[in-house]
Amino acid sequence: MFKRLLYQIPAWLQWFYRGVMWRGEAATPIVYITFDDGPIPEVTPRILDILREKNVHATFFLVGDNVAKYPHLYQRILTSGHRVGNHTFHHIKGWRTGTDAYLADVEHCNKVLGYGAGKPPLFRPPYGRIRTSQKVRLLRRGYKLVLWDVLTHDYNKSYTPELMLDIVKRYTRPGSIIVFHDSLKSGDRMLATLPKVIDYLRAQGYIFDTL
Ligand SMILES: [Zn+2]
Repeated sequence: MFKRLLYQIPAWLQWFYRGVMWRGEAATPIVYITFDDGPIPEVTPRILDILREKNVHATFFLVGDNVAKYPHLYQRILTSGHRVGNHTFHHIKGWRTGTDAYLADVEHCNKVLGYGAGKPPLFRPPYGRIRTSQKVRLLRRGYKLVLWDVLTHDYNKSYTPELMLDIVKRYTRPGSIIVFHDSLKSGDRMLATLPKVIDYLRAQGYIFDTL
């Protein structure tokens, strides 16, 4: 029970976040690998190399400020066939930000991403937390809110690649959304784990898709 609370979103939180996607349809053996917080020059190109080598498409929840700083990395993500989502412009904390200011920061990120017609914009709140008022307004504006059901803890220094792989083995189910971080903090630990995770899941018969 303790571990489930640590690595998965508990049932009460799933209820709290109704209207928010935290796992895909369980009918097919699809998994969704996601990366938060990029793009950054130290890590993103190495993720893209691994994904290309393994022929996997993923979803990147990007910080607008990083997209504005590194537009070439953003273009590389897009031309590689990955999907992108909005992770606010300044990676702000919803619970410390007024709803109008929060919405403005999200829209600012959208402008930098150049979200056009087609699929509704994906949004993942930084830290997985927002106020209900923020959630309601984002849903009304057509955002598709996405959390996760498998958290690798790649930002945590005490988590080895072996432990992270073990979390994935224990908790991934058909439809699971797995979170990694495209950040300096997670960098090497995440990059050492990612190929192992892909190989393991593929051997289990999983198919990788974008959200
Ligand atoms: Zn984040």
